[in-house]
Formats: sequence, structure tokens, C-alpha cells
Amino acid sequence: MKTETSIQGLSASLNPARSARKIIGFIPTMGNLHEGHLNLVREARKLCDVVVVSIFVNPIQFGPNEDFDNYPRTLEQDSHLLAEVGCDIVFAPSVEQMYGHHPRLTNIRVGEITNDLCGLQRPGHFDGVAVVVTKLFNIVQPNYAFFGQKDYQQLAVIKQLVRDLNMPIEVIGVPIARAEDGLALSSRNGYLSAEHRQIAPVIYQSLKQAEQDLHAGKALLDVLTEIRMQLTQAGFVVDYVEARTPMLQKSDQFDQDIVLFVAAKIGNTRLIDNLQIKHIL
Ligand code: AMP
Repeated sequence: MKTETSIQGLSASLNPARSARKIIGFIPTMGNLHEGHLNLVREARKLCDVVVVSIFVNPIQFGPNEDFDNYPRTLEQDSHLLAEVGCDIVFAPSVEQMYGHHPRLTNIRVGEITNDLCGLQRPGHFDGVAVVVTKLFNIVQPNYAFFGQKDYQQLAVIKQLVRDLNMPIEVIGVPIARAEDGLALSSRNGYLSAEHRQIAPVIYQSLKQAEQDLHAGKALLDVLTEIRMQLTQAGFVVDYVEARTPMLQKSDQFDQDIVLFVAAKIGNTRLIDNLQIKHIL
């Protein structure tokens, strides 16, 4: 496995594969890798000849009071894990390498679907994601790009961006990897105290309970209220509990497949999760 820190170095590493028309798979990450990230690499390995993983904590997707400075940076450990799952190239640029060369005047705003859920709570977040992913796509020029369903809204934003701008890339969504107790794996789980880590699985438990209740005929709005209550009782401060269609349209009835979304804080740690629920006739 090679590690490249410059755009030029990465191009030099990828050019032979490009000339040989090899299939290039790409997984953008912010590092501090866990099984969720590694599953994306495993999926890429199945479809692609060359697998590239980027590790870059992107400053422009963090709000002023968010955790950019404290975000865990564990490149050495990440590199070992990536080598084990068959990554070919790690691209780990500096902020200077990505943004330092000239002032950036271009912004990318994916409309409508970013004015909802995490987009409302984190103004500018998805613009920052859209810019960095576009830059990385142009640098890596992959055939396939892999994103986790854990960040369901982000995956929808990237799919929309790729479609709207005719980017010649196939975007693949990969299911959420969870700990045994159901907590969705996240680099931010490392911020949790032992006590909060015990409480954190309540998010998934409340989503699974909601699924059962919906299938038993309970009204969607009541089910959302139940989730909020369970989370608040467990000690969370709820950012949102919402239901959307798989295409992120609003939905106040369970008359088609829906996705339930939760964002909630425990202590200073903001956790997100979602559950796709099939409408069974
Ligand atoms: P991040 O490093 O948090 O930016 O995540 C990089 C990629 O890994 C994104 O596409 C995430 O959606 C994905 N990812 C993170 N956690 C999980 C998880 N628990 N299951 C599946 N994908 C995940």
C-alpha cells in the first residue's frame, strides 16, 4: 500500500492504472477508521481494481463551534487497518495541499435537500462537503465512489451533485455498521464517557421500537414523539427526530417506505443515526 500526501504524487501513482483502464474505487474519509469505514473498502475491493482511500479532516465542513481542532487524527493506526483490508493507495493531504494554493471563490450548494435535517442544524456543512468531495473526485477521478448510509443525507447530497453536474462516477451506498449493542459506529463515539457510551445505544433501540410500532399500526407522528421521549428520558438533548421518504421528501404518514432520522447530543457529543423502514402491505 502506498501513501501519498500531494496531488501530484497521487496522480503519478494512479496514472499507470488510468492508462491501463483499470477500475478505480474511491472512499473519502476523515480518518480515525473503524469497521464502518473498512466495510466501504471491502465493498470497493469487490468491484474495483485499484482502491483509493482519502483521509482528510476537511475544515470547511465544520462550523465555528464544532470539533475540527479536536477531531481524532490517527493516520498511523488508520494506515495499518487499511493495509489489512486491501486498500492500494491512501491519500492524506494537508489542509495547505487541498486549500492553500490560491483563494477559493467557488462554492457548491446542493439545493433543497440540504435545507433540512443536519443542513438546518449545521449551516454550510453540506456546502463544505460538496466542495471537498468535488475536489477529491477531480483529483482521484474514480469510476466508483463509496459512501456510508450512516450519513444518509450526505449520501443523497453526493448522488444529487453527481447527477446534476454529470460527474462520470457511480456512487454506491453501503449499509450502516453497528456495534453489538446497536450503536452506529462513528469516529465521534470515541468522545463518549463510559457512562454516556452505555446510554448511546438507546438511539438504535428507540428506532427499532419505532419500526415495530409502525408495523403494528401506530401512527407515524406518535411514533416520532415516542422516540423523542425515550431519548430525552435517557439523557439526550434531541436535535431532531424526523421521518422522510427515501428521497428525503417530508412524510407524516407511514403509507410508503420511510426513513427515520435522529440527531441527538449526549454530553457534548452529537450522534446521528437512521433506520430505513419498509412499508409492508
Ligand atoms: P467520515 O470519516 O465520518 O467522514 O466517514 C467516511 C465515510 O464512512 C462516509 O461515507 C460515512 O458515511 C462512512 N461511515 C462512517 N461511519 C459508518 C458506519 N457506521 N457505517 C457505514 N458507513 C459509515
